Amino acid sequence: MRIPSFTSIVHAFNSFASFATRSAPPPPFTVASTRPLARKSMPTIPFFGALFSSGSSTSSQNMSHPVQKSKEEWQAILNQEQFRILREKGTEAPFSGKYDKHYPSEGLYACAGCGAPLYKADHKFKSGCGWPAFFDAVPGAITRHTDRTFGMERTEIVCSNCGGHLGHVFKGEGYPTPTDERHCVNSVSIKFDAGEGEGKKEEAKV
Ligand SMILES: [Zn+2]
Repeated sequence: MRIPSFTSIVHAFNSFASFATRSAPPPPFTVASTRPLARKSMPTIPFFGALFSSGSSTSSQNMSHPVQKSKEEWQAILNQEQFRILREKGTEAPFSGKYDKHYPSEGLYACAGCGAPLYKADHKFKSGCGWPAFFDAVPGAITRHTDRTFGMERTEIVCSNCGGHLGHVFKGEGYPTPTDERHCVNSVSIKFDAGEGEGKKEEAKV
């Protein structure tokens, strides 16, 4: 007979399903009918989130950031905490960062990894969240990625120049800022430069 029997189709589907899910629980049509709510409580979201995240972090590291360095090269120029946060997407403890309560009237916050200017002093606002918060950035300085780790969908921000992890962007929280965005940035990821603008002006005058 040329037409395959129902059982061989089921068999083929089962083989495919177990291949596709790498021996995860039985195929959906047997589970779903008996335990319709089970899927919600199953840890599939963090699991797949971790998969996607490692994919996106790989791509963000290999994507076309002008500054490309090996792990060893980054370790040579960053201290341990900077490496953990910038290159391994870590997070500093809340209210611990040196720029959390830092409100200069002018100056720039640059990437601690490569020195690219990221935020102006007047982009910073008081969010009370425990990390430096900015409502906007230097145009083109920041690249956004979808971050699905920990079962949440967040927008990760990295330095466009070197791909260094800065933090996350949150939208629509109701802060009285022009953008209603909060760039929640690790102090460790940035370096404040108060004098560059002044120095340049003075040089220009002389
Ligand atoms: Zn950078």
